[in-house]
Parts: sequence; structure tokens; C-alpha cells
Amino acid sequence: MAYKVPFVDARKHYATYKKEIDGAIIGCLENGDLIYRQQLKTFEENLASFVGTKYAVGLNSGYHALHFSLLAAGIGPGDEVITVAHTFVATISAIVHCGAKPVLVDVGRDYNINCDLVEKAITSKTKALLPVHLNGRISDMGRIMKIAEKYKLAVIEDSAQALGAAFDGKRAGSFGAAGCFSFYPFKILGCFGDGGAVTTNDPAIARAVSLLRFNGEDRETGEYHYHGYTALLDNVQAAVLNVKLTQFFPKWVEHRRKVAALYHEGLRGVKQIQIPDFPGKSFHDVFQNYVIRTADRDALRTHLKSTGVETLVHWMKPVWEHKALGLGNPALPETAAICKEVISLPMSAETTPEQVETVVNAIKDFYKR
Ligand SMILES: *Cc1c(COP(=O)(O)O)cnc(C)c1O
Repeated sequence: MAYKVPFVDARKHYATYKKEIDGAIIGCLENGDLIYRQQLKTFEENLASFVGTKYAVGLNSGYHALHFSLLAAGIGPGDEVITVAHTFVATISAIVHCGAKPVLVDVGRDYNINCDLVEKAITSKTKALLPVHLNGRISDMGRIMKIAEKYKLAVIEDSAQALGAAFDGKRAGSFGAAGCFSFYPFKILGCFGDGGAVTTNDPAIARAVSLLRFNGEDRETGEYHYHGYTALLDNVQAAVLNVKLTQFFPKWVEHRRKVAALYHEGLRGVKQIQIPDFPGKSFHDVFQNYVIRTADRDALRTHLKSTGVETLVHWMKPVWEHKALGLGNPALPETAAICKEVISLPMSAETTPEQVETVVNAIKDFYKR
């Protein structure tokens, strides 16, 4: 069915920026700039400068950004890494693939790690904290960095949903040993396939991640330093990301914040739902997603669908209930409740004020009945 208000609109996005995007892609093809050329290096410089780190290393996915950051920080068998269960599974799989154990803690009202629970989860095996900045809101990095210093833990930030989000003016991905980004098409900065990056101030981490993505090879000397992976960000994708980051991205963030403000304004009076308007002067949110929470989730979703509004749910059941993953039962009540109660409303750089009005009215109609 064709939605009146689609969740995102990839065709409209391309049509809007076609000239610049085509220019970037055709430039690469005509010059044969396919692997690790200037476009990738330029994107890495621009990304590092945007995030506020010395280095950025382009990779083929957010998953690999997480996996390589953990490896570069020395995480391995026998180690524990504290993270959340309310995240995309890649966060947790990256820990497992290092041979380490994910220790899952609950989230707070804003869907990010509940800092009150972190210290209780620390054991003699804990090596790192892996906060996930969900929906475009950064975790409480003030508290996390304090805990990390006190216990001498590495911090790896899953910033896949939080490019541009900030805490006290400092951007996601610039606090810890490494920041991990994804450029999956529907992320706030998306390419036309898979992509990702690690940001860091630590030259040793930047070098390790650079070697891991190239099968362990130092391209200058030809020496293999690891059994690595093939996981480089494609040059063509980097060229597209460069255009988007430097010419449009700041405007998109402003647009998302305006769309969120319109949703807030329209929905604030609907007492059956929690809107993502969270307190805290330190936080600058970029609204990767606009997530509302309600006890009537499934009925509201059905109603919205019938009025032509497309919504999504991340995630329908807690990750530990996927038995094949072998995560045991961490029994996290907030995470379990959230899975039954959240809906993501349409939100992208293409979402219009009229569309927001349509969604708001459909939600109000539902609660009037
Ligand atoms: C998208 C995402 C990832 C992984 O990104 P991929 O590029 O799809 O591998 C990791 N963590 C979170 C929170 C994400 O949203």
C-alpha cells in the first residue's frame, strides 16, 4: 500500500539531492576512484572534524565499527563489556565476536543506559562500557566518563544513531576511546548501501582499525599485522557521504529538530502517550527517530496504518528472548516494557509540517474515540 505519510521516503530524498549525488558518484566512476582514494580520505577528515576527534576511519558498516573498536581497545576472551539490551543486535554481537561477554543493563526513561545501574554491574572482569546513544539522544556522558575513570574502563560509544548529538557541547563519538557510526541508508547520515566509521583521538586505535579493515595489512610496507577483515568504506559511498555531510547535514539536523518540536507541540496534551521531550540542559538531541510510548501501542499502530501513516517498532521483543543468541535472561523490566509500548513516528529530512499534522490528528482521533 502507498502510505500518505511514509516512515521515510528514499525516492524523494534522492530526487531532492540528485544533482549533487550524481555528481559525486559519476566523478568516482569517470576517474576510476573506487577503493581508498582521495574521496574517502577527505570524508574521514571532514567526519573527524565534525565529531571533534583527531581521526576517523571509514568502514563498511556500523557493526564493524563496533567490532574493530572493541578489538583495538584490547577486548577479548574472558572480558566483560557493559551495555544495554535495548539496542540493535549488532552492538551485542560485536562484543560476542570478540570472545567477550556482554553484560546487559536496563535503560532509563530516555531509552539510554540507566547510569544508576552501571556500577552494580561492574566485576573484576569488566573492561569496557559501551553506551548506546539511541534515537539521536546521547547518553549521560558526564556520569559515564566519571564511572569509567573511577574503575579504569575503556568507553566505546555506539553513536550509530547519534551523529551530531551532543552533551555539554561535545559531540557523540568524541568522549570515549572510540565512537562508532553507521551510514546505513536510513541513519541520519546515510549512504546508498552499508557504511560506517570509527572516530577516535587515540592514534593506536586509529591505526589498529585501519589495519583490521585491510586484512591486517599496512598498505605502506605490505606487512600483515593481524588476521584482519575486508571492511573498508567504499570510495563511491564516501564521495556521496562527503557531499551530504558538508553541504546538507547541518540543515537536516535542524529540520529534524523542527519536526520534533512540531510533534511535541501537537502531542503534549495527549496524556496517554509519553513524548521524547526529555529534560536536561546538557543534552542536544538530533532525533534520528521520534519514538512515543503508550500502553495502547498495537491498536494505535493499526489505526495509524488505516489512515495511511506508516510507523515502525524497534524492537518487538527483548533481545534475550531470541534464544539462539544465548544471552540468558537478564530480566530488565524497563527494556521488556518498552518493547511492548514504543512506536517510531515518521521522521526524516523529508518529513513535512503537513505530514506531522496528519500524524498528530490521527493520534488525537484515536484517543477521542
Ligand atoms: C544501525 C545501528 C548499528 C549498526 O549499524 P550497521 O551499519 O547496520 O551495521 C549499531 N547500533 C545501533 C544502535 C544502530 O542503530
